[in-house]
Amino acid sequence: MGDPDARVLLADAPLVEGAVAAAAAARGGASLEEVAAEARGALRAKAAQLGTDDAPAPEAAPAIADAGDAEELRLRVGNRLGLHARPAARFVGAATGRGAEVQVVNATTGRGPVSARSLTALATLGVRQGHEIVVRARGAGAQAALAAIQALADDNFGDDDGNGDGAAAPPAPATPAAPAAPETAAAPAPGDALAGLPVSPGIAIGPVRRLLAAPLAVPEDPPESPAAEQDRLDRAREAARADLRDARAAIAARAGEGEAAIFDAHLLLVDDEALLDPARAAIDRDARNAAQAWDAAVRAGAEAYRATDDEYLRERAADVLDVGRRVLGHLTGAGAARATLDGPGVLVAADLTPGETAALDRDLVHGIATAHGSATSHAAILSRALGIPAVVGLGPGLLKVPDGTPLLLDGEAGTVVVDPGEDAVADAERRRAEEARIRAERRERAAAPAATRDGRRIEVAANLGAVDEARAAVAHGAEGVGLLRTEFLFLGRADAPGEEEQVAALSGVAAALGGRPLVIRTLDVGADKPLAFLPQPPEENPFLGRRGIRLALAFPDVLRTQLRAIVRVAAEHDGVKVMFPMIAALHEVHAARAMLDEVRAELGLDPPLEVGVMVEVPAVAVAAERFARDVDFFSIGTNDLAQYTVAAERGNEHVAQLAAGPVPAVLRLVASVVEGARAHGRWVGVCGELAGDPLAAALLAGLGVDELSMAPPRIPDVKEALRGIDSGDAQRVARAACDADDADAARRLAADLVAGR
Ligand code: PEP
Ligand code: MG
Repeated sequence: MGDPDARVLLADAPLVEGAVAAAAAARGGASLEEVAAEARGALRAKAAQLGTDDAPAPEAAPAIADAGDAEELRLRVGNRLGLHARPAARFVGAATGRGAEVQVVNATTGRGPVSARSLTALATLGVRQGHEIVVRARGAGAQAALAAIQALADDNFGDDDGNGDGAAAPPAPATPAAPAAPETAAAPAPGDALAGLPVSPGIAIGPVRRLLAAPLAVPEDPPESPAAEQDRLDRAREAARADLRDARAAIAARAGEGEAAIFDAHLLLVDDEALLDPARAAIDRDARNAAQAWDAAVRAGAEAYRATDDEYLRERAADVLDVGRRVLGHLTGAGAARATLDGPGVLVAADLTPGETAALDRDLVHGIATAHGSATSHAAILSRALGIPAVVGLGPGLLKVPDGTPLLLDGEAGTVVVDPGEDAVADAERRRAEEARIRAERRERAAAPAATRDGRRIEVAANLGAVDEARAAVAHGAEGVGLLRTEFLFLGRADAPGEEEQVAALSGVAAALGGRPLVIRTLDVGADKPLAFLPQPPEENPFLGRRGIRLALAFPDVLRTQLRAIVRVAAEHDGVKVMFPMIAALHEVHAARAMLDEVRAELGLDPPLEVGVMVEVPAVAVAAERFARDVDFFSIGTNDLAQYTVAAERGNEHVAQLAAGPVPAVLRLVASVVEGARAHGRWVGVCGELAGDPLAAALLAGLGVDELSMAPPRIPDVKEALRGIDSGDAQRVARAACDADDADAARRLAADLVAGR
């Protein structure tokens, strides 16, 4: 943001921020003078964030150390991007729920203190790599909170700066970003080339298309009672949470856990006190309706991000607006309606929110060109993960290009040519064909079955989390689907999908697979995946509560409808199998099978339909031989199996390390499952994350697993690893890995195996 522009932008914003700060202070019972001071403080804070010399340090919150009984921790922040969205979200997680009031100061810049409960407040401290922060905590849980924060810092705030984390390792731009053009930029002429940041490779040719999202009008209706408006706000936030969990799950399935983590930050924003407190205050004190109150708080929150001097943090304004729009959609009755395109082409936008990117229709969007945004914006990360060619930061002139104008986008060079001539299009088409040829070669190798050097076949299949992903999975080399997570048909809706709808969706997947194996897992919800239409009382330990098959058997109508749909699809398509999740006891297998038999009888259909169970609970792994008598196959869900084996809740970053990688105790359970299955001629698959890790996959093959199922993009690498090993060697190394000290040691053994050492 150039300074002149920033000052123009600032002219009215402090009114909003001042009002928000004042409202928050007033709600806290401050005097009129204090309220006014707080409002002025908001302006000073923004001036300081913009780096103007005449601004005193911000007065964000009264320092708790003043009380003299606070514990203190000083840290130097080592991760490359500082406290950006995901580390800040982890920081909030470490600081909250421990019975302590925690505040943070950026000692390097003097900003703060701010509450560690607020993602927005933390992020606006502008903490970068090398900055020193001071964390102060007070209360019974002060020491625990500081210990958790210290551990997080020791873990580089959860960032993997070496690789993997797209946010942490943006590609170096091949061409400099276009200098920020004034908003009055003229429309580019035919043949003009706009330069931006290349964020996702590939060539796209097509007409300009725009997202058609119905603008959300904030209703001016007079509020009902403050209590009713607060209630509406809470219900809208709950609905937004459900949307976010869905989006998270969809992205986790399509692009992996790393990319999905942004939605964890969004979930925190829904509850962020920096948004919620002013919204609640506006309802209580200013007689605003819930939509007006929330909208104003979100705009002010986004503005606070935009006002920082850190480009990465400025990008986060899009996240605040995205979350704000989701909640507002539910407040205005527009719901989670998705923006879409009116035809195939290159999507042109000022910027894209992660939610918009996640919802893009891959068939329509050939490329993405944005006027703003950076290589580290989540839209950029997701477009990369989804394989859509993209260039961002092309400048506002891009937005002047009329709909339908042909564009030539080069995601490698970071350029967009407006209305390119025939020669340029022909040349780009040649290059695109060459790229496609190389990709096809790679895919061809991945399409061949995987066998070890000595010829042992291991089936490599895909995990799918949406019905439209099957074709892409086959293109990545999937020999079938080892896990179809059907909960995506159920999440985020007010009522259960009907039988016909389920038949249509499942048939779509089966048809795309053309007779390849398709393991349909029945509804696996509860714990981290609540369903709006199956209300459950809150549970103290949801992961040990009514989830998976336990919940499905408690609501038999839902399971029965799903089984009817599965049997009908199995009657029409080869290769269909059914699998029950979270089995812990034989009586659950018997109850589920009995219902399946009833359904077959009701329908008068008796198609071939193997019945398997997921091995996610150690009880089943230990007693696999007994379970094997009553099932046709096992698929080991190592995500849950590891969490229950080492008693480390999945998703809790403080204990995640215990369950990460090929944990020897988990490998021993895998060996037990294989042994139990063999005794009865059953086959064993693995569909947890471990299967998609090439080194762990080699160990699993060595343990005798027959099938590995994973996120489709992982398939080529896993096949490559399997082809390089000898099954006898793999068996020996896998046994040694079961005996290793820890997962790292097991992984080192696997690395030697795969490298042929
Ligand atoms: C697992 O637990 O490993 C698994 C594949 O199931 P989910 O991740 O859907 O719980
Ligand atoms: Mg599971």
